[in-house]
This record gives sequence, structure tokens and C-alpha cells, in this order.
Amino acid sequence: MSGKGRHYESFASRVILFLGAPGSGKGTQSAWLSGQLGIDSLSTGDMLRAESQQQTRAGFKLREVLASGALVDDKLVCQAVSARLHRDLPRSGLSAAKRGIILDGFPRTIAQAECLDEILAEMGMPGPLVLHLDVSRQALLSRLTARRQCASCGAIYNLLSRPSAQGSNCELDGQPLQQRDDDSEAVIRRRLTAFDLSCAPLIEYYGHSDYHRIDGDRDPSLISAELLAIVTLEKARAAA
Ligand code: AMP
Repeated sequence: MSGKGRHYESFASRVILFLGAPGSGKGTQSAWLSGQLGIDSLSTGDMLRAESQQQTRAGFKLREVLASGALVDDKLVCQAVSARLHRDLPRSGLSAAKRGIILDGFPRTIAQAECLDEILAEMGMPGPLVLHLDVSRQALLSRLTARRQCASCGAIYNLLSRPSAQGSNCELDGQPLQQRDDDSEAVIRRRLTAFDLSCAPLIEYYGHSDYHRIDGDRDPSLISAELLAIVTLEKARAAA
């Protein structure tokens, strides 16, 4: 994954969606692509985890849902994403001074996909570019049980494929690495089942638009190269 920070300044304002099971590499690849394109990446999982730390009734309820591996209520997620997109994306009629956003983990249901379409239509923006990281169940299970995350900055490591040079602490800020509550094997199986149930209808929903299936079982640098090739082609098409 070389070339960090090389921005594609003229990428037209566009929403890029990452579809993929927990552990498919959505977080890693969307952060990388975000650096390449110079646009923000919004992870609904990170957003909800931050929200769940609030010492309120809503925060406590959210913590319970996240720890169980179930999906959070569509209405709550849609409201939060809508607020963020309205804040960060250019409105219809304005020049595309900002260059879109990457959504990591949204939409997860058809109701959320419809909500996103409404927001984009309202803002005069084109439909999303959909990048689906398709990873085998076996690879997902071994990746997720070995995943560790910095409790402070959210950086992701993997005991097998991407250990921290600082051992059990984060390379970036030295804070302790933790296993997420929802990365235990029982919860992982539930999350993967929830994903399987929601993913097929989403693929069907996006299948006739700008949808790309990427083999996510390969080396991360090969996946990054393919993602960049797709986005670059898209950029050329938009400029033509
Ligand atoms: P992730 O970090 O994307 O694996 O998400 C972690 C957890 O956050 C999921 O298991 C869900 O409980 C919740 N979550 C993240 N994104 C969504 C979404 N779009 N809709 C509902 N729940 C979500």
C-alpha cells in the first residue's frame, strides 16, 4: 500500500461505499483510500462506538446492542449519517469544493440504502460508487479473533498479519491495544450471520448500478491497487 498522501484533487464529489463483512478490511482500505483521495472516511461502527461511551441511558443501550453483535436501529444510524453528510458534502448547485466521502459500514440494510439515496438525491449528488470486499468465512474468523484496536486513537492491528511494533501498545500513541467486546468468537459468528442476511439484498440493490466486487482474500496491497484502479477509472469517466 504505497504512495500514501497522493491526492486525486479532481475526483468529482462522490460517495464511495464499502460493503463487506466485519473483518473484511473495510476499515483499513477505506482509511488508505481516504488518504489517497484526500477525502474523509466515515465509519458508522467507530461513530456508534464513540456514541456508546456516553454515560447516558442511550449510551448504555447502545453499548448493549454493540456488544451483542446485532445491528443498531436503522432510524438512529440514518439520522447520524444524514447529519454528517449534510454537514460535509457540497449542496446541489455549489461547486464541488469538497470531494465526497467514503462510507465504511453504511448502509447495512435496504432501509439504510434507500435513506442514503434520498439524501443524495436531495443534495443533487450522483448515486454511490460501491466497493464490495468479498472475503471467505474462514479468513474472516481468523482475522477477527486476532484483531486488536487502540483504545485511544482507534488504529487497527492484527496479531497475525499486522502486529504492533510496540507489542501490546499502539505504534502511534503508545496507548494499550484492546480486543473489541464484539470480537469474541460467539459474537463474531452472530455478526457474520447478521452480515450474510443483510448483504445479499444490498448486492441485489446495488447490482445494477456502479457496483464492484473485489476479492478480499488477497494481500492488502493488491486489494488497495485494485481499489485505486477502479476509482481512477471512475474519475476519468466523470471528467470525460
Ligand atoms: P463495524 O465496526 O462496522 O464492524 O460495526 C460494529 C457494530 O456497529 C456492528 O456490529 C453494529 O452493531 C454497529 N453498526 C455499524 N454500522 C452500522 C449500520 N450501518 N447499521 C446498524 N448498525 C451498525
